[in-house]
Amino acid sequence: MNRDAGFLMDLFFPAECLACGARLARGTICDKCRIGIIPHRTAFCGTCAAPLPGFRNICHPDTPYVMGASGDYRNETLRALIHALKFGHIRGAAAPLADILAHYFAKLPIDHRNCIVIPVPISKERMRERGFNQAALIAEHFARFFGIPHKKDILIRAIHRGPQSELSDHAERRENVRGCYAVRTHTERRPGTEWGKVILIDDVTTSGATFAEAARTLRSAGARKIFALAIAKAA
Ligand SMILES: [Zn+2]
Ligand SMILES: [Zn+2]
Repeated sequence: MNRDAGFLMDLFFPAECLACGARLARGTICDKCRIGIIPHRTAFCGTCAAPLPGFRNICHPDTPYVMGASGDYRNETLRALIHALKFGHIRGAAAPLADILAHYFAKLPIDHRNCIVIPVPISKERMRERGFNQAALIAEHFARFFGIPHKKDILIRAIHRGPQSELSDHAERRENVRGCYAVRTHTERRPGTEWGKVILIDDVTTSGATFAEAARTLRSAGARKIFALAIAKAA
């Protein structure tokens, strides 16, 4: 479906479950699909993806960020919603996904006050192709849920390369994103501003290479604490 068709679908056919197509009186996903999403209950180590019960990283304490993922990418509903957004260009899928992520995040022992929300950026080329950054749409809803700022222009993707999903090897994935992010210099750390705790948002994390590189870039620009959140974690 092209982008315009997706937009029209959003306008005229809102009453269908975005995951299974069932008719709905209102809303975007049906109860059966909603119940079928099994949310994670812990955060994960950004280095080895081990669950961090109690939120303490004991396996790799030097990891520059804590990873969160609201569910497993093998979950059919989550996958269907992510595909609807990313490949079906149905923007209406961003809100239920952000809602799932927000409910997961709200249960973690993290104080979200003084956090800013930053989406993992896409390149200009990808933006032209897709018309929107799916992570930014999710981040926008997520930030609104908690009433915290959403800053989509701080972190940019300066270098365009092929999608991570086409690479299976972890080393290749790391190499593919190396040096591709940048922080806009005029938004770099200013004393007294919100540049302390960052919630970085993406749709799917697989190897963690994207999060690691984006977190490294944010850290070197002054971000102190980073929570990297994905809707779904793939193995
Ligand atoms: Zn459904
Ligand atoms: Zn670890």
